[in-house]
Amino acid sequence: MKNIVIFGAPGSGKGTQSDLLVAKYGFKHISTGDVLRAEIKNETELGATAKSFIDKGQLIPDSLMIDILASTYDAMLPCEGVIFDGFPRTIPQAEALKEMLAKRNTGVTAMLELEVEDTVLIERLVNRGKTSGRADDNEETIKARLDVYHKQTAPLAEWYEKEGLRNTVKGTGALEEISAALCAVIDAK
Ligand code: AMP
Repeated sequence: MKNIVIFGAPGSGKGTQSDLLVAKYGFKHISTGDVLRAEIKNETELGATAKSFIDKGQLIPDSLMIDILASTYDAMLPCEGVIFDGFPRTIPQAEALKEMLAKRNTGVTAMLELEVEDTVLIERLVNRGKTSGRADDNEETIKARLDVYHKQTAPLAEWYEKEGLRNTVKGTGALEEISAALCAVIDAK
């Protein structure tokens, strides 16, 4: 079973590329952002807590996210593979993922990093906001999310480098070419 972490800034194409990987390999897809938005839609207690952070572009506390991740993962087993999209976003989350998978006698197969410049990210997210209906796809919140990304999430790239799992792919250009580059990494594992 493969456990693939797809990594990159908001707007780097993690969701789009995850969909292509799901179609090709039949993997299951865990998007923690989607899980939280579903909780908000269903007006759960967790949704109310999540909303207060998401609307400000801030991260949900690690302890809460780690519990959500573990139960979402277990609900997907057994399967060929899982794509983690939007998790981990902090070093404690990456450590918790490693521990959670080790307890289940498995581990992260590869981290796939989509590299995209900030100017392109802002343009993509502002455009997405016109149709996504996402309250956090507005210019002010986008800037806060990118700031959080650079401060809290980007350092994880080095963490995965040290683990020998980091694979960086250029996240601009034709979708199919980006996907082919990601598949080449997965196929080599
Ligand atoms: P996304 O759909 O991945 O862009 O996530 C949208 C928002 O959900 C983020 O800006 C965070 O507020 C929250 N979120 C999603 N995943 C996580 C995570 N792993 N840790 C903390 N907050 C998260």
